[in-house]
Amino acid sequence: MRLVETKEALRAALREAWRDGRTIGFVPTMGYLHDGHLTLVDAARRENDLVVVSIFVNPLQFGPKEDFERYPRDVDRDLRLLADHHVDVVYHPSVADMYPSAPRVMLRSGAMAEVLCGRSRPGHFDGVLTVVAKLFHRVRPTRAYFGQKDAQQLALIQQMVRDLDFAVEIVPVPTVREADGLAMSSRNVYLSPEERAEAPVLFAALSWAEAEVAAGERRVGALVDGVRSRIAAKPSARIDYVELVRYPSLEPYAREAMLQPGDTALLAAAVYFGRARLIDNVLLTVEASGRAVG
Ligand code: AMP
Repeated sequence: MRLVETKEALRAALREAWRDGRTIGFVPTMGYLHDGHLTLVDAARRENDLVVVSIFVNPLQFGPKEDFERYPRDVDRDLRLLADHHVDVVYHPSVADMYPSAPRVMLRSGAMAEVLCGRSRPGHFDGVLTVVAKLFHRVRPTRAYFGQKDAQQLALIQQMVRDLDFAVEIVPVPTVREADGLAMSSRNVYLSPEERAEAPVLFAALSWAEAEVAAGERRVGALVDGVRSRIAAKPSARIDYVELVRYPSLEPYAREAMLQPGDTALLAAAVYFGRARLIDNVLLTVEASGRAVG
């Protein structure tokens, strides 16, 4: 496994693979790796000649009051895990390597960022798309792997690839969870034992809604309210949002709307447990025949 820290060293590490037309699987991360990240890495390993992982905590996607400074980092541990998973190249750039000067031209994520996390975190997805576009140019991957845990991010990146003609295949990977349902996240380390004990309510509440839809519930308002009240029952939980939008367009449903046969909807929530802001989501599919499959 090679560790490279500059775009020049990255280019040198990949030049032969590009020249020989070898397939490159790419997994962008912010490090502090867990089994969710490693599931993406394993998928990339199975499907490509070469696997490249980037570790970069991107300042452009953090708001001024967010956790950029204290975001957990442990690159030595990450490197050991990535070597165990047979990664070929780890790209761990500095902020100066990624942004030699503050970018004056950036990608704009548009209407798909006006809901869910994009509404709570203005500018976040512009920062995400800009760094992912730069990474795609630097790595030139055949395939890039993204987790469904960050469903809005995944939908935006798929849209970016379509709208801007990036020559990369985006591969979605299902959310990896702890035994009690909590979605794995680098930010789970922020949780106190009490908060950790209550955090599984997030997925439990979303799963409740999934079961309701399977049992015939179609009322958007009832689903959203049911999820909200289940989460709000936990003393350490503070809801940022619970929202139901069409997938993958991310167009909001009116509160009074009903899910329709053939709909695929994203039910997503962001909840603070103490200082940890955790997100999770489920996709709700209503079959064209009207039967829900959850
Ligand atoms: P991050 O380091 O949080 O930027 O995440 C890097 C990639 O790993 C993104 O594509 C995430 O969606 C994905 N990821 C993070 N957590 C999980 C998880 N629990 N299951 C699946 N993918 C995940």
